[in-house]
Amino acid sequence: MSDLFLKQNPTLKDLQEYIAKMKIERGFNTTDKVMECFYLMEEVGELVKAVRKSLKNMQIDANKTYNTSVAEEVADVLIFLLNIANLHGVDVEQAFRDKEEINKTRTWKKI
Ligand SMILES: [Mg+2]
Repeated sequence: MSDLFLKQNPTLKDLQEYIAKMKIERGFNTTDKVMECFYLMEEVGELVKAVRKSLKNMQIDANKTYNTSVAEEVADVLIFLLNIANLHGVDVEQAFRDKEEINKTRTWKKI
């Protein structure tokens, strides 16, 4: 029986706290920062595959069953990304706000 509960309209902090509890409850990695990066990269690959599968006129292996969706893979990527933030003590909302302030000062152009 799980004690995990995610309230409606969670903040990023709520999601980070949920992920921290979930990783402990399920016995997943809570210490190895590099391994978590590998897991994230795996999930990014699965997301790219799901996006590619969702497009028209793309070639995919006719003998394989692809049963993942873009939504599922986005969730997987978020889980590992937030855990990497947790392992580094990063407040994701604050990090986002800080980085966006830097990004706003940049000049963007098309080449
Ligand atoms: Mg996945």
